[in-house]
Amino acid sequence: MIRKLNFNAGPATLPLAALERAQAELTDFAGSGMSVMEHSHRGKEYEAVHAEATSLLRELLAVPADMDVLFLQGGASQQFATLPMNFLTPGASADYVLTGVWGEKALGEAKTVAAMYGAKVRLAATTGVGDGKEKSYARVPTQSEIAPDAAAAYVHFTSNETIHGVQYAVAPGAQFPDFGGAPLICDMSSDFMWRSTDLSRFDLVYAGAQKNIGPSGLVVVLAKKSMIERGRKDIPKIFQYRVHADNGSLYNTPPTFAIYLVRNVLAWVKGEGGLPAIEAANREKAGVIYAAIDQNAGFYRAPVETSSRSLMNVVFRLPTEALEERFVAEAKKHDMVGLKGHRSVGGVRVSLYNAVPVAWAKTLGDFMNDFAKHNG
Ligand code: PMP
Repeated sequence: MIRKLNFNAGPATLPLAALERAQAELTDFAGSGMSVMEHSHRGKEYEAVHAEATSLLRELLAVPADMDVLFLQGGASQQFATLPMNFLTPGASADYVLTGVWGEKALGEAKTVAAMYGAKVRLAATTGVGDGKEKSYARVPTQSEIAPDAAAAYVHFTSNETIHGVQYAVAPGAQFPDFGGAPLICDMSSDFMWRSTDLSRFDLVYAGAQKNIGPSGLVVVLAKKSMIERGRKDIPKIFQYRVHADNGSLYNTPPTFAIYLVRNVLAWVKGEGGLPAIEAANREKAGVIYAAIDQNAGFYRAPVETSSRSLMNVVFRLPTEALEERFVAEAKKHDMVGLKGHRSVGGVRVSLYNAVPVAWAKTLGDFMNDFAKHNG
C-alpha cells in the first residue's frame, strides 16, 4: 500500500498510528467481542473511551477547570447558529471580527438569529478588501483596527481562516490581540490543538474535528461554565449548551466512532511529546513550504502578509491558472494530493495539519523548487 501524501484541508490526513490502532481494534474492541461502534453509548466500554478522549484533551490543552469539554454534532457550521441562539437576547448586540469567509458565514447566521430575536450584530473589524467575488483577505487586523463594544453579548473571531490562509498570533509565543471586555468566542476549527494556548482568555472555543484531531461528524466545544449558564433556556434543548454540559455530552447519542478516533489521535499526540513537539514540527513544515515560495519569489506568490501567514494552510499562486493546474496534476503523479486551492479563491493550498509528517513537507518543498526551475 502507498499512503498518499495528503495535504487536504479537511477531512484531512490522520496519523497512521491512530488508524492502525482502529484497524486492530475494529472487530473486537477491548476483548468485548464487538466493535466500539456497536456498543451502547451508555455502556462501560464506550464510557471509558469517552472519558479518555475528554481527559486527553483536557491534559494536552491544559483546559482550565472552569471550562467544560463538549463533543457535539452538526460541525462548526451548526455552531455558527447555536452561538447566537444561546447568547443573543432582544436589544442585545454581538461583535464579529472578520478575516475570511468562515467568519463571514458565522456572521451571516448570527444576522438571521438576530432578526428573529430583535437583536443586532456588528462588525468590530474586518480586513476584507473589495466586494463580491473579488473580495480578498490577506491579514489579521492590527490592535488599533479592532473597535470592540464592551457591552456586546460576545465577540467572535476565527483564529485561522482555512480558505485564505490567514492566521492570528503566528510568531512563536505571540498572543491573540485584545478583543475588548465582552465574552470572547473563537472558531478554532483549523488551528485547534497545535500549540499551547492560554484558554483562560476565552469564554467559548469551538473546532470541527476533521482537521487536527479526528474525522468529520464531531465538533469540540470548550466553554466556561459561567458562559454556559448565560445561555437561553427558551430554545430547544438540543441547542442548549447547558443540556449537553449537564449530560456530559451524552444527552443524545453522540458520534461514538468519531470520538473513539479522537481518543486514538490524542493518544498519538501525547506519544509524540504533546503540543511542544507538535508545534515544533508544524513550524518546521510551514517553514519548508514558505521557504520554497520565497526562494522562487518570481514564480510563486503568497498573497498573505508575512505576519499573518498561516502555518496550517499555506496558500500561494503561480503565474497563470494553467500552471496552477499543471502543478496540481504533476504533484498528483508523485502521490501528493489535496493541493488545489478552495474553489472560491483558486490557486494552490497546502494544509499542514498535525498528522502531516515533516518528510511530506520536505518532499513537497523539493517538488516546488523543481517545478519552478522547469516552468519559470
Ligand atoms: N470554520 C472553519 C475555520 C472551517 O475551516 C470550517 C470548515 N472548513 C468550518 C468552520 C465549517 O466546518 P463544518 O464543515 O464542519 O461545518
